[in-house]
Amino acid sequence: IHLLGSFLMCLSVLQIPTIIGTVNTHNKTDISNSHGLDENYTPIRTYQVCQVMEPNQNNWLRTNWIEKGDAQRIFVELKFTLRDCNSLPGVVGSCKETFNLYYQETDLEVGRNIRESQYVKIDTIAADESFTQGDLGERKMKLNTEVRIIGPLSRRGFYLAFQDVGACIALVSVKVYYKKCWSIIENLATFPDTVTGSEFSSLVEVEGTCVSDAEEEADNSPKMHCSAEGEWLVPIGKCICKAGFHQKGDACEPCGRGFYKSSSQDLQCSRCPAHSYNDREGSWRCDCEDGYYRALSDPPSVACTRPPSAPQNMLYNINHTTVSLEWTPPADTGGRNDVTYRIICRRCTWEPEECFPCGSNVGYSPQQSGLTDTYVTITDLLAHANYTFEVEAVNGVSDLSRTQRLFAAVSIATSQAAPSQVSEVIKERVQQHSVQLSWQEPEQPNGVITEYEIKYYEKDQKDRIYSTVKSKSTSATVNNLKPSTAYIFQIRAFTAAGYGTFGPRVEVTTKEESTGSGEQNIKFPGTKTYIDPETYEDPNRAVHQFAKELDASCIKIERVIGAGEFGEVCSGRLKLPGKRDVSVAIKTLKVGYTEKQRRDFLCEASIMGQFDHPNVVHLEGVVTRGKPVMIVIEYMENGSLDAFLRKHDGQFTVIQLVGMLRGIAAGMRYLSDMGYVHRDLAARNILVNSNLVCKVSDFGLSRVIDDDPEAVYTTTGGKIPVRWTAMEAIQYRKFTSASDVWSYGIVMWEVMSYGERPYWDMSNQDVIKAIEEGYRLPAPMDCPPGLHQLMLDCWQKDRADRPKFDQIVGILDKMIRNPNTLKTPMGTCTRPISPLLDQNTPDFTSFRMVSEWLEAIKMERYIDNFTAAGYSSLESVARMTIEDVMSLGISLVGHQKKIMSSIQTMRAQMLHLHGTGVQV
Ligand code: AMP
Repeated sequence: IHLLGSFLMCLSVLQIPTIIGTVNTHNKTDISNSHGLDENYTPIRTYQVCQVMEPNQNNWLRTNWIEKGDAQRIFVELKFTLRDCNSLPGVVGSCKETFNLYYQETDLEVGRNIRESQYVKIDTIAADESFTQGDLGERKMKLNTEVRIIGPLSRRGFYLAFQDVGACIALVSVKVYYKKCWSIIENLATFPDTVTGSEFSSLVEVEGTCVSDAEEEADNSPKMHCSAEGEWLVPIGKCICKAGFHQKGDACEPCGRGFYKSSSQDLQCSRCPAHSYNDREGSWRCDCEDGYYRALSDPPSVACTRPPSAPQNMLYNINHTTVSLEWTPPADTGGRNDVTYRIICRRCTWEPEECFPCGSNVGYSPQQSGLTDTYVTITDLLAHANYTFEVEAVNGVSDLSRTQRLFAAVSIATSQAAPSQVSEVIKERVQQHSVQLSWQEPEQPNGVITEYEIKYYEKDQKDRIYSTVKSKSTSATVNNLKPSTAYIFQIRAFTAAGYGTFGPRVEVTTKEESTGSGEQNIKFPGTKTYIDPETYEDPNRAVHQFAKELDASCIKIERVIGAGEFGEVCSGRLKLPGKRDVSVAIKTLKVGYTEKQRRDFLCEASIMGQFDHPNVVHLEGVVTRGKPVMIVIEYMENGSLDAFLRKHDGQFTVIQLVGMLRGIAAGMRYLSDMGYVHRDLAARNILVNSNLVCKVSDFGLSRVIDDDPEAVYTTTGGKIPVRWTAMEAIQYRKFTSASDVWSYGIVMWEVMSYGERPYWDMSNQDVIKAIEEGYRLPAPMDCPPGLHQLMLDCWQKDRADRPKFDQIVGILDKMIRNPNTLKTPMGTCTRPISPLLDQNTPDFTSFRMVSEWLEAIKMERYIDNFTAAGYSSLESVARMTIEDVMSLGISLVGHQKKIMSSIQTMRAQMLHLHGTGVQV
């Protein structure tokens, strides 16, 4: 409430209303100004009148001019006492209990120049309480308070006037005021003192002013409404602290040091992001530390960053006048993820060495700068010229940095030809954590290959971050791989002219973790598994699943090279569109075949087509839609291994022979890893190419073994190549990779003896017996003992004790790496001391007397029987048959057997000793 004027009659310091006196000329004013005490006994001055006895009273009291200021609606509070007419004795008619209140608006103080008729009546004021006792002098009067409102007022000021028409009253105080809303801060906006509106119901809309360091929120300027009662109502909109300031109570305070607020929209100050700082208060951003920058597009909230480091592992390839560069991302991206690459190409002269920008004639694919991938091909370079290429990693702040540029660079001479691609990559060995690869030298080495580089990366990794491994030979083992993970490998050769192009991508999935070594034919996920073509109902589907159908017009038959079970085997050439023509062997199916024959014939292709290994004969394809039906196989110039060795008896070094064995073992390791059991592994079923590479061949199902001339019927049914077959397979057809290992031992023996027939001319029955009794083939001539020991290991009775092909490859590799271990100690192998080796087998050839022999085999009780029948020399004993033994009168079958098998062993030992068979 704003007090315009208080006319407390008791306080002379206040504006004392002027007594205007009676305006009516013939009436003197009877209003008197007198002193008294209020109800608290405080001295007061009052205006009193009490002309109740006389009629026609018209007494006026007027205030002085009251300037209204901003007010439009004025409150007038009157305090007065009034005497009850009834309590005045003898008063009738003329006594009144009311008085009238008037006002008059003027712009100026006009003094007494207003006539009574010009006043505007506000109200007739009656007392709520009048008093009856005593007289005016008594202090028992009851004070009345009445408030009247005037307005809206339009002039600068006004007068109030009081008219008495015959009451007995005392006017104690007049308080004149208006209401306003007091200055306030709301939502960071200051609202000034505001006078209420002119009407009781009107609200005054007031615009707020933002406090210092605050600003109006966009489209939401602060407003409030001042009610007629002087209350602030309905706040709308607001102010918010400017950037660099945050709200504390009703004010905006600057952000502290090390803090910033980038926008008024943010509520709080934030700590400076990484690599930025500030050392003053009220910052809207932080400055970057030395060497760190913010790109124009970077908001203040992100860390300051720096240019990336140089790209790494730069690799290049030259192909005539085209250079491909490849690299890996920089170790430090500078803290940003917008790294791209740009290429700077310079051509350099020799002497003096000066380099010039390559200019616009050079092409870049995909582009020269802004490269997002880590490779580029630069074309249209000059031939026989020297270039340097710089690859710079660039990010959003590279151009802001004044530090030295970091780049990876290579100098390349386009005149030199790099080696051609390494395209024939073989997965030798796939483990959980390692992959062993081997490959062929590129077709055009264009120099001496000093090194190979194997690049690999996880196939499913988005960034293709690759690693490299180097190898001086054509094989390498990549270690520290993750299990069950697909990797992509690429290999290239290095010569003095630089690196050749990477060969095609080779995908290898490492083995699953936690598989034990287990049986050979446990199938590992990730390793391809052999599928038995017999599981296909339609054999034609099987063959087309695994073998490519060739167009007969691509095949040129040249000559017949052999006879197979189903028809002729020819040599010829295969020319596939877009490929070099290659030598092939063509197996044909003779005319007039039955459906079963056709199926069995193609079965070999269905099996062979599943294999892809350098030591397994490779199937080129089949012709099933024309006649004759053909199987086309890679040509193996040197034919089958047994015949080849016999032809070249004694012509190879031990290392060469072990190299052949290693190849066969690697092929078998691959087959066993795929879960394929060969059942007919023998030197005759190994083919040899012009590079002496041995490859396993002759695939078929068990019944195809029937085609092997070595296979004989056994009591367990089916034909079995007895001399090559493990005991358990002969006895109860338990064919496994472990029985293949046995056969492999026999192949070793065949190889080391240049194609000798295992167990020479012993009968199959005798072979079975001898093996059952623990006899084993002796080391061939000049055979290193280590190799013979390996053979013996392969012939362990218990198949679980035999080495796995994997171990065999490892052992042979070790021998090849340390040729000293292959030296034959004099006198150990050149002539075997103990043929058909077994710990318990005596060397019969060292005996001279029949009795010595019989004692050695604990059959001395029969010495007389032998002597009586005239068997005086061991030579004569060695020629004995079972009938001869029986005719000596030896009736116990067990003894007959024991003597007979010993005779067979003796025969074998003698044969080996003299190199000639003993005729029976
Ligand atoms: P097979 O029907 O496999 O017994 O083959 C009969 C003969 O043909 C073999 O003994 C080899 O001399 C010869 N032969 C089979 N396949 C090939 C080949 N891929 N390369 C050269 N000669 C082969």
